[in-house]
Amino acid sequence: MNRRRFLIAALIFWLPLGAMAGSAGPVIPYHDLSIFLDPETRTINASDRILFSGGGSASFRLDPSFTITEVSVDGRAREIRRQNGKVIVDLGEAGLQSVVIRYRGRLAPTPDQSATRAAALGPDRAMAGPRGSFLPGWAAWHPRGPSPVITYRLEIETPAGQKAVAPGKLVAEKEAGGRYRAVFESSSPIDGIDLLAGPYQISERMEGNIRLRTYFHKEIAHLSEGYLESASGYIRRYTENIGAYPYPGFHVISGPLPVGLGLPGMTYMGVRVLRLPFIRFTSLGHEVLHAWWGNAITVAAASENHGSGNWAEGLTTFMADYAFTEDKGLNKAKSMRLGWLRDYAALPKTRDRPLSAFVAKVHDAAQVVGYNKAAFVFYMLRKKLGRDAFADGLRRFWQKHKFRAAGWQDLRRAFEAASNQDLKAFFGQWVDRTGGPRISLGRVSVEKDEKAGHAIDITISQQTPFYDLNLPVEIETISGTERFTVHLTEGKVSKTLFTRARPLALALDPDFDLFRRLDPMTTPPILRDVTLNPETYVVIAAEDAPAIEAARSLAKRIMDRPPRFRGLNQPPPDSPMLVIGLRGQVAEYLERAGIKNENKTDAARGTATVWTGRKNGRAYLIAAADTAHALEALIRPLPHYGRQGYLVFDGGRVIEKGTGLMKDGPLRLRLNKEGGKDEHR
Ligand SMILES: [Zn+2]
Repeated sequence: MNRRRFLIAALIFWLPLGAMAGSAGPVIPYHDLSIFLDPETRTINASDRILFSGGGSASFRLDPSFTITEVSVDGRAREIRRQNGKVIVDLGEAGLQSVVIRYRGRLAPTPDQSATRAAALGPDRAMAGPRGSFLPGWAAWHPRGPSPVITYRLEIETPAGQKAVAPGKLVAEKEAGGRYRAVFESSSPIDGIDLLAGPYQISERMEGNIRLRTYFHKEIAHLSEGYLESASGYIRRYTENIGAYPYPGFHVISGPLPVGLGLPGMTYMGVRVLRLPFIRFTSLGHEVLHAWWGNAITVAAASENHGSGNWAEGLTTFMADYAFTEDKGLNKAKSMRLGWLRDYAALPKTRDRPLSAFVAKVHDAAQVVGYNKAAFVFYMLRKKLGRDAFADGLRRFWQKHKFRAAGWQDLRRAFEAASNQDLKAFFGQWVDRTGGPRISLGRVSVEKDEKAGHAIDITISQQTPFYDLNLPVEIETISGTERFTVHLTEGKVSKTLFTRARPLALALDPDFDLFRRLDPMTTPPILRDVTLNPETYVVIAAEDAPAIEAARSLAKRIMDRPPRFRGLNQPPPDSPMLVIGLRGQVAEYLERAGIKNENKTDAARGTATVWTGRKNGRAYLIAAADTAHALEALIRPLPHYGRQGYLVFDGGRVIEKGTGLMKDGPLRLRLNKEGGKDEHR
């Protein structure tokens, strides 16, 4: 379960990778669970009656530290065996079974809000505490049978002052006799029950039949109205785009962990995260959309649906994060696509994977492909099919696979049905293949033609393996811009384009409509050019112990892989390089390494400066601070700025940031001579 553990680590968004619904046969197991949770003592007392069909020996996964007090089958007590975290019960003859398991246990303590990321990852065990309890389904705090997908009724009690919430329909709720009690029912199959509790204040509004709630800590209770307002907007938006919202409620739940999780019908986010003013307008929409993609339709494991992989993150990123950016304007959307391509350009080839191999975000490199490239592929697909057929394809996919698992090939079939197009080649080159096309502009010549106007001969080529591409070509003329599309299927294509007015400049794919490998020479370096590269060496340019310590921690935090260090007195490496240290020593080292300080920021400002550059085609990243303390202040924020080229920090606060400008590269040419022949190479 290591993978799961990573997932709750960062300020990223997770979805459960469900097993196929109903894979155990026609009857989905039903659990009738009662639990008393005391966050103060971190104890639970529970009983679970499980109805399912089976026979012989059955095994249930349950936290091995729990004490089982009783097991019965059809009302008769049974002996059990416990082995490797499993409870093994002999059921006897096959048929419909009613197994009751009573147990109690003590949960791990919930890490403190200020806990380091590593501590906040938590164990695979459920955790409890007065500030918040989190009992994830995968931690087996309730018995999990051979088929993990279940329907259920859950009755949960906590001491007064604490409130608990789980997916499903809230059918009863009461606070009396010093206790809070709530009952949730789910007739839609769910892969394990996620239970959350805390000292919550509840706010509610109904959106049709859907109960929207916030379970917030007191200090952020004033944010409830805004979150409820936004959540109902997202539910309306996606109900219209895709189909009816699949759960009886949607709950936004605050907690002490610095995470953001998309759970069926609810999202769990850290108090600190919820306080960020943009979360309502970005991440919240992403999490609401996961109700459709990832929760109600789960991701089929690769073996179940050949060539699968996690399509849900990309589709959610496209329909939430990207769509919200597009709502703000086409230029913003274009910048987002360029950002994705820049990230991708920073990804070393050795770390690239096809979309069909993406499972979940465990490091930055996985996000560059699994989220961004996948979202880009949906962008290209919508362009290819048109908005109507694309929207129709999504609705078909939803109708057919709701409450089941699905893969990329199911998406392909739905879009094929909606558009009457064969999309095997499209999905083949973008989903199953690693990498992206690398395009170059060859010979260009301009001739004035008496009748047709100006004739521009161009040759475009690509490296193997060849992609089937419709390349946008834009020609700027003295009287406006003219647009063309050139179809490229093989290594090279030559084409003559005619413009009425005199052409001034020509550009291939100027709006970044194609997923491709950008030429590193045209793209200014970003932090990720260094942090994603496994060849990077880290040099610590500091001599006193606290600064060395802070620099090493920072290196570990921002490098996507465990860092490789190189001594301050060794010759500078001939590879990408990360130099961290105190300003004076950093400057000395850079001078020895022959790196000119091209940092354009005002070094007098702030307490630390971070910048990137290239030497001999290799990217470097420099972080120089006034003091050890100022270096330490970068540890928390810096990993969130992988796409920047330079930053200035005042303590932990960014006071300036940006990237260098894109250069006129080989895909853009000026055609300035009047008439006659003008050749470019
Ligand atoms: Zn997500």
